[in-house]
Amino acid sequence: MSYVGRFAPSPTGPLHAGSLVAALASYLDARAHRGRWIVRIEDIDEARAVPGAAQDIIETLADFGMHADGEIVWQSRRKPLYEAAFARLEPHVYPCGCTRKEIADSRVSLAPDGAAIYPGTCRHGLAPGRQPRAWRLRVPDRGDPAAAIRFDDRWQGPIGENLADSVGDFVLKRADGFWAYQLAVVADDADQQVTHVVRGADLLESTARQIALQQLLKVPTPRYLHVPVVVNELGEKLSKQTGAVALDRSRPVEALVLAARRLGLELGTAPRSLQEFQDAAVAVWGRRFVD
Ligand code: GLU
Repeated sequence: MSYVGRFAPSPTGPLHAGSLVAALASYLDARAHRGRWIVRIEDIDEARAVPGAAQDIIETLADFGMHADGEIVWQSRRKPLYEAAFARLEPHVYPCGCTRKEIADSRVSLAPDGAAIYPGTCRHGLAPGRQPRAWRLRVPDRGDPAAAIRFDDRWQGPIGENLADSVGDFVLKRADGFWAYQLAVVADDADQQVTHVVRGADLLESTARQIALQQLLKVPTPRYLHVPVVVNELGEKLSKQTGAVALDRSRPVEALVLAARRLGLELGTAPRSLQEFQDAAVAVWGRRFVD
């Protein structure tokens, strides 16, 4: 197997201590496997992309000694790929005319993350006078064996999820016309032949949806490893919204040592250079996750 891993940031702001942990984990896993590490800018949600953020992330990764193998790809430039994946999913897709508020108001049940599970209102056709807004994937019914998605996460252990209970029919093409993250990420991982996905545990609840799409598209399912997310004093995931500050690009080794500690990596003596840091961290990661 030739290993391909990736870091896939959304350019909504500069890299911070939380996103550095995800970047570092994916980088170390690729290097410990002697594989390729690619960087993909996930700017498909053009409404959320912040001008200049992608360039800033790319430069910060370089300052921190993490250089992508091969060209960096941008989701906003790959729309035909998503269109083609959507076309292949056509038999499983239907138009939905519901507004967000209508779905929230229906309150059939809530997903474990508190989001409203889509109640299936438009599953059997749009009500008269309704216009299609979004396009949804019909997930298998609760009792159908195909609804139960299982995978073995390399950090979190065995995970099982029944999509009918956790999300219901989910959106592939959004009401604002943009492709949904779930569709884009699956199309990209397949196209780029990604074998190992290493990312933050906030995306654990997206994984079953992504595996369901892989199965329908008949593309391989990568191995997954979800690292714990970094939280602030209030227990909130570190993000721009919760006050995360940009990394100090002039002191990369200190930030990397802290990120490694957050991953539970004991490096021994304090590294004095990026090279010393990488050598030690790749070795420790490799002993824990590869050898
Ligand atoms: N773009 C996503 C994020 O920044 C990560 C996607 C992924 O790793 O699958 O949260």
